[in-house]
Amino acid sequence: MSIKRTLAIIKPDAVVAGHTGKIIGEIEKNGFKIVAMKMLHLTIRQAEGFYAVHSEKPFFKDLVNFMTEGPIVTMILERENSILQWRAVMGATDPAKAEEGTIRKTYGTSLQRNAVHGSDAEDTAGTETRYFFNAMETL
Ligand code: ADP
Ligand code: MG
Repeated sequence: MSIKRTLAIIKPDAVVAGHTGKIIGEIEKNGFKIVAMKMLHLTIRQAEGFYAVHSEKPFFKDLVNFMTEGPIVTMILERENSILQWRAVMGATDPAKAEEGTIRKTYGTSLQRNAVHGSDAEDTAGTETRYFFNAMETL
């Protein structure tokens, strides 16, 4: 298995609640190398662009409002099989259905306010990392 990269986001609910450090600790404890990281406060347009794949979903507008309500921390993570491994560490989309010990189970408070994001496939991992980090930042 080759070393691959994925995009992680600590969402506004977890940042404002003061969970950033603990979540970064979980990431490192689980063997991911953080190869790039930045904190930023998305505009509506930036959040709409990031979640464009969900633009027809009934929850889209609420999701964009949530993702712009405060700062986020976005990171590129590297390890073997990083996309699936990071999704396993995050847990299911709905914190109520996530496994014990996962980040979403521990820090998520609703289906929407679920603390973290992770790419779901190789192509989206590529698009999403390029959305937040330019070529020079990801060498
Ligand atoms: P994931 O983040 O696990 O890949 P999705 O890509 O399906 O999940 O959805 C993106 C984000 O939209 C979720 O993480 C969650 O914040 C929000 N979301 C998904 N489904 C719903 C829903 N039915 N109601 C409200 N928010 C939702
Ligand atoms: Mg998704």
